[in-house]
Amino acid sequence: LLQLYAPLNFLGFVYREIKNSLADMEKMFGLMSKGAEIKDKPNAQALQTPSAAITFSHVDFGYEQNRQILQDISFSIPAGKTVAVVGASGAGKSTLSRLLYRFYDVNSGAIEINGVDLRDLTQSSLRAHIGIVPQDTVLFNDTIYYNIAYGKPTASRDEVIEAAKSAHIYDFIMSLPEGFETTVGERGLKLSGGEKQRVAIARTVLKNPPILIFDEATSALDSHTEKAIQAELKAISLNRTTLVVAHRLSTISDADEILVMRDGCIVERGNHRQLLALDGVYAQMWALQLSSE
Ligand code: ATP
Repeated sequence: LLQLYAPLNFLGFVYREIKNSLADMEKMFGLMSKGAEIKDKPNAQALQTPSAAITFSHVDFGYEQNRQILQDISFSIPAGKTVAVVGASGAGKSTLSRLLYRFYDVNSGAIEINGVDLRDLTQSSLRAHIGIVPQDTVLFNDTIYYNIAYGKPTASRDEVIEAAKSAHIYDFIMSLPEGFETTVGERGLKLSGGEKQRVAIARTVLKNPPILIFDEATSALDSHTEKAIQAELKAISLNRTTLVVAHRLSTISDADEILVMRDGCIVERGNHRQLLALDGVYAQMWALQLSSE
């Protein structure tokens, strides 16, 4: 036993050394990522509202210092209304939604919710008020139940079932041998684009936020699924302040206002009918899309 003591003691030492340096690495990465993060002001207030009006005023923004992406962007989304953004790839559409979620701060100008600058709000309260249905929903390697309940970790099973029903994914889940307990994600059952979006919609329904960001998928779903998802989104955006980043014009023709972006600027704005009458960029995009369909 005594003979074993020295090597075991040495192994213990090595183990502690490795563990400490891993902890240091964790700290280092933590500090590094904290440095890049947006911090709450010491007197930041908590947003608490069931209805949110959003205003972008003269917003300029660039991810890097010497490359401006957004220039003088101004628009408002009255509480409960829908604004859609269209434009070529790289025009800056998704950047608007990233700024609204406050992944970044604007360089100049301001974004306000009910008249309060985002920079004066706590990030956690801001994000609690926003539901995102992203282009490509990333699922956790966990059960489908967990993936939906993530929208509201305190939800009851009945609430999760209701959310799945309103996102029209309940029947699909029940058709799986393990139902809600089916593992999905990279290491589990692979869901189709439409199914993943439905999981994201169910999550959002459960979260019940006053603000909704919908980043439409660039890759088209089949037209039947597309129509169904559109109908579901329309239902959940009702009475919520909604920003839609759209790739297909057919999906946003009933938005309250459509912003047409080019190179980081808004070049046209109005509803579908007004933009067609303008006979400009939007009308051209519309004609192009009709002919390709
Ligand atoms: P798409 O229709 O292809 O999704 P988009 O209009 O949504 O495009 P954005 O994603 O807003 O475009 O990107 C606008 C510009 O900002 C692009 O030129 C892009 O290269 C740049 N950009 C986006 N994200 C970053 C980032 N994290 N760092 C640096 N530049 C970025």
